[in-house]
Amino acid sequence: MNVRPKRSLGQNFLSDDSAAGRIAERLELKKDDTVLEIGAGKGALTRHLVEKANRVLAVEIDARLCRLLRKSFRDVENLSVINEDILKLDFRDVVKPGAKVKAVGNLPYQITSPVLSFLLENKETISLCVLTVQKEMALRICALPGTKDWSPLSIAVQLHSDARVLFHLKPESFYPPPKVDSSVIKITFLGEPRVAMPDEEWFFKVVRCAFSQRRKMVSNSLAGSLDLPKSRIEVILEEVGIDPRKRAEALGLKQFVDLASAMREILK
Ligand code: SAM
Repeated sequence: MNVRPKRSLGQNFLSDDSAAGRIAERLELKKDDTVLEIGAGKGALTRHLVEKANRVLAVEIDARLCRLLRKSFRDVENLSVINEDILKLDFRDVVKPGAKVKAVGNLPYQITSPVLSFLLENKETISLCVLTVQKEMALRICALPGTKDWSPLSIAVQLHSDARVLFHLKPESFYPPPKVDSSVIKITFLGEPRVAMPDEEWFFKVVRCAFSQRRKMVSNSLAGSLDLPKSRIEVILEEVGIDPRKRAEALGLKQFVDLASAMREILK
């Protein structure tokens, strides 16, 4: 069955079988593991997963590819092909209460951010994820504070997980080749947030405001985006031991939590 790739669905299929094997290996599958595959495509990765896991839930939005998968894997008993938009999947429909899955996928790059939000929202049901994403995105997700890639995205992911880059893949590993380099990353969810806080929504508001003008001092970015006098922000920053002349990218997670908590008490 010949299925023409749809660019609008990010259909760059993995053509490098050794890369598929390496990705599957990094899930460290055990005989009782359930795997959620995001965007199974033609099954390049799926075939490695069904060999090692107890159960594979392969979610694929394209009905043509679901037909192809059901045909190619007709003799495989531990695979369920789910023709669904991953962003609309309700975990309660596919995973038993209290159970955890490992998530894997060569993500359609145009929906990487919403997929990450979806995975974060369902973190109680997921132990770890191995994801192929655009290289720039991988560097931002896994960045360390004090580097140019440290961003609200790094903070959102790392507040709840350990995230690291495993290896990079060239465009030739896919067909058709994408225009960008790719990286495989591993996200291991923590049981609790890395730093406890009373109000996550407020925390992320402060983080976004602090990064709103990356090249400016954090006191200027916060004063500008929250429409407050700079002197007031400077007092709060100094109170929590942050030099107001620093840029947002120099602040670590704990400093953001301290800052957001102090601002919440004074401003809310
Ligand atoms: N895993 C396959 C591989 O490695 O060859 C395919 C990877 S391809 C980069 C991304 C796949 O995600 C495509 O098959 C595409 O149809 C599917 N896809 C795109 N958007 C999706 C969505 N919202 N939900 C589920 N699958 C999606």
